[in-house]
Amino acid sequence: MGFFKKLFSGKQKESLDSGLEKSRTNVFQKLARVFTGKRKVDESLLEELEEALISADVGVDTTMKVLDRMRRRARFEAFVEVEELYQMLRDEIAGLFSEGARDSESTTYQLPGATPDFPTVIMVVGVNGVGKTTTIGKLAYRFKSEGHSVLLGAADTFRAAAIEQLEVWAGRAGVPIISQHMGADPAAVAFDTLQAAVSRKSDVVIIDTAGRLHNKSGLMEELTKIRRVMDKVVPGAPHEVLLVLDGSTGQNAVEQAKQFAQATDVSGLVLTKLDGTAKGGVVLAISDQLHIPVRFIGVGEKMEDLQDFHVLEFIDSLLPENFSDGMASVTES
Ligand code: GDP
Ligand code: GDP
Ligand code: MG
Repeated sequence: MGFFKKLFSGKQKESLDSGLEKSRTNVFQKLARVFTGKRKVDESLLEELEEALISADVGVDTTMKVLDRMRRRARFEAFVEVEELYQMLRDEIAGLFSEGARDSESTTYQLPGATPDFPTVIMVVGVNGVGKTTTIGKLAYRFKSEGHSVLLGAADTFRAAAIEQLEVWAGRAGVPIISQHMGADPAAVAFDTLQAAVSRKSDVVIIDTAGRLHNKSGLMEELTKIRRVMDKVVPGAPHEVLLVLDGSTGQNAVEQAKQFAQATDVSGLVLTKLDGTAKGGVVLAISDQLHIPVRFIGVGEKMEDLQDFHVLEFIDSLLPENFSDGMASVTES
């Protein structure tokens, strides 16, 4: 099959595979029920498959697209082995996503907007608890490992603990941080951070923000103000607005993304906590339904547990090459 070109190093693949273990087990428990004893593709099999995919958080719209492809392809009433049914499903899911896959699929994240005089500015948004601060720590560690100078800005001034937590991550990643007292104007912190970054000639700035979705107009105003102030110091900033979503909330993450995209321009998504959940299928729903690229996925709490997202690698991990390999994770659990 031509869809699955291998992009990852063995180590990344291992960490993705182990991060998606619960989701894989969930998918295969459902597939096992659908496929066992089935010898032909017919409407009743497709209906069961539809239910299975939806309950594995792949989302209704995306599931429908996959089934349409299965229908077009299936040799109805022909007798097939379970393994063949599985290959058909895996191919059609990969086919659906490879149509949308961009050329950048094959590359790792490139810092957008960087010029010799100005840093790349990344603003990180999302509701409380989704993993913004943790993701910033992981990104800082990663960019630094790639040889970039990084500066963090603690513009979530809503709680003292939020500032302290970012300071802890800055320490772990070994990067500097600009912060003020709790309750300070987030835009002022962003302003200070960008000024410091320009004078220090930092390569990349990452700004943490508070997320209080229960007050959308307030949130919108605050984010707009932060953006306006940043653009004064670094023209064109922010170059990337990353919306962080908690993957373990399944379809709620899709809803949250839709709401957030109305409050501010979002240029990329991060799906976190995929290691702790069986709802990893939601990443497919999000990739298919939102017109915002998933840039990174979080597969653990450690500094190294953030990966570039490549949809075909993801599918390859969720749906391994052979049905029996996938079933192994069910029998082990
Ligand atoms: P924030 O409120 O959006 O800044 O969220 P935090 O960064 O404080 O994260 C909230 C919780 O989620 C913390 O306990 C993190 O350790 C945890 N977390 C974040 N990302 C991941 C991940 O990829 N995997 C797991 N298992 N936990 C995560
Ligand atoms: P506000 O409506 O008065 O809060 O002001 P702005 O939206 O213009 O900016 C928000 C914050 O960013 C301000 O409180 C300042 O701390 C900072 N800021 C914005 N523009 C400037 C500037 O030109 N110089 C300095 N020093 N700080 C600025
Ligand atoms: Mg935080």
